[in-house]
Amino acid sequence: MTKFHVLTLFPEMIEQGLSCGVIGRAVRHHIISLNPVNIRDYTLEKHGKVDDYPYGGGAGMLIQAQPVYDAHKAITGGRRVRTVYVTPQGRPFDQKLARELAAEEELILLCGHYEGIDERVLEEIVTDDVSIGDYILTGGELAAMVIIDAVARLCPGVLGNDSSASEESFHNDLLEYPQYTRPEVWQDKSVPEVLLSGNHAEVTKWRLAQSIERTGKRRPDLYEKYLQKQQLAERLAGDKRNNIHLTESLLRGRGEIMCALGEDAAIYDRSSGVCMLRASSPEAGARLLESCPEGVGRYLAEGEHVVTLLQERGFDRICEYSQYLYTQREPLPVRHKEIRRLGEESLAYICSRYPAVSQKYGRERLLAGAVYGAFRERQLVGFAGIHGIGSVGMLFVEEAFRGRGIGASLESFCINRLLESGCVPFVHVPSGHKAAEHLQDKLGLYPAGNHVHWLGKEGR
Ligand code: SAM
Repeated sequence: MTKFHVLTLFPEMIEQGLSCGVIGRAVRHHIISLNPVNIRDYTLEKHGKVDDYPYGGGAGMLIQAQPVYDAHKAITGGRRVRTVYVTPQGRPFDQKLARELAAEEELILLCGHYEGIDERVLEEIVTDDVSIGDYILTGGELAAMVIIDAVARLCPGVLGNDSSASEESFHNDLLEYPQYTRPEVWQDKSVPEVLLSGNHAEVTKWRLAQSIERTGKRRPDLYEKYLQKQQLAERLAGDKRNNIHLTESLLRGRGEIMCALGEDAAIYDRSSGVCMLRASSPEAGARLLESCPEGVGRYLAEGEHVVTLLQERGFDRICEYSQYLYTQREPLPVRHKEIRRLGEESLAYICSRYPAVSQKYGRERLLAGAVYGAFRERQLVGFAGIHGIGSVGMLFVEEAFRGRGIGASLESFCINRLLESGCVPFVHVPSGHKAAEHLQDKLGLYPAGNHVHWLGKEGR
């Protein structure tokens, strides 16, 4: 659960402002937590004063360092917690930063007032200065609420499932397409015919075309980024099977290009925090690695050169996988009928049966609605899920229930979910796992050829 603490002189403004709608509901259901802290409660002044005149003169008052520092310390107790000072002088807030902040488990937002806050305490506690636009507000509360709203809706479970967030403006460097609701005709204006056709494929095509056209007209800067990704995806599609994880990440709007050298590339998949590398020479590998963001904990690497380079940098080879692709459009038959989406209550079960899934990752996937369970007479007997990078995995069936097609049904179920959302399903199978390889054959998936390697550092 993401925790938002807000250091403010007006806690009631934060409480009331975020008590309605989707965010209010998420707070009431304990999906996120909101903790407005009154800076005034920490002043040592007996009249509750927290501000004073600026040294050197000038208009207005400044919030003093001591109450801010003590209020901050009361929250952190000395722990390092990412602390955002909302200020017109900060990094412009955008969807990318919202995603970055949504990955934190805990955030502190510091709201200024009057002319701002004594610089010395900002130097001590602030990790990020963030602005919500080039204009001056009277206080930081509205800015903090804007940030909390945008970040919280990306936190797993807040929107119910992650598809609503994935289709909106900025998701894929594209603005959203136009939308219409009843009545069909309003003031002689009709809803575009294709939307009434019931043909989902045509609707998807039309929406994408509208998004592209709109982005080109309204936001040429975003459009340029979108084109770059499309072009790289096209180059990588020359070796489609081996590059499926890279192209899916780019085309589904999750991956950012860190570096592209012909058909070699480093792509950072921000939803999973994984950096994917494909290098055909040691020189390319070294250049790609230089472009990766600081602190990446997990790499998915293709090519021995880059694996060696990562090992030299202290990363361990966790597992080697073969990629398998499902290239048909037809959904697969699901013979076992009792398959349902699992919720957070299944976390302990999943982590105990599939130890490679950490508590944190398991919770995130469950809250994203991406893990499905197979039941037999109301008993959970197996599960499978869709990973953050878009592959199917986490397949497990209780020993007593193996050999009855439950695993095949679970994998088929996940593949069908991916097909519905327009993705090319792919599966990572541990190299040499005969039973898993056999299952892929049976379901009609093709092996990519090359292997990919997961690398990570212990403790991350
Ligand atoms: N004197 C400050 C300056 O020029 O940078 C502006 C102070 S402003 C009147 C008071 C507080 O409102 C700031 O400390 C900040 O917390 C908040 N604030 C004002 N405009 C903001 C913006 N565009 N983005 C984020 N916070 C803002």
